[in-house]
Amino acid sequence: MNQPRRPFRINVGFLINQPIGYSRDFPFSFTPYQFENEEIVENLCGSINLIRTQSGVQAVMEVSATVDAQCVRCLEPFKQGLHTTFQELFTFARVPLSEDEELIPEDGYLDFEQTIKDYLFLEFPIKPLCTPDCRGLCMVCGQKLNESSCNHVVQEKG
Ligand SMILES: [Zn+2]
Ligand SMILES: [Zn+2]
Repeated sequence: MNQPRRPFRINVGFLINQPIGYSRDFPFSFTPYQFENEEIVENLCGSINLIRTQSGVQAVMEVSATVDAQCVRCLEPFKQGLHTTFQELFTFARVPLSEDEELIPEDGYLDFEQTIKDYLFLEFPIKPLCTPDCRGLCMVCGQKLNESSCNHVVQEKG
């Protein structure tokens, strides 16, 4: 797979000399993208916006991707879209000022890959549906009701 190595590893050291409120945006777009020997996603795109705060850096991230999923009703594979926004705080201080902050290493490099992956997959639905109104399978004969109906009476559930 042709993808850059550690594309989400960014040196934030340049921000230390910037005024509070200064920001720089790091847009990204990869398809496909494989997270460290794990899930492969398509259309991984979004941005990492780094903002200088009083004690460090606020990273505001927006990420979207599509992943392989299986519909819980009709059992057909489909592409599930995922989208999330989140933020994290980092500090140049030697010790975190609060539980919400992480330390910026001395070399200034932060790698957002794991965070992006974690937040993205939090958006994966517990019960993925190929379409919101998927008709599923007939409980009696197994007919795919999205394709055609059968003679069995469908009992509407809840
Ligand atoms: Zn379905
Ligand atoms: Zn049927």
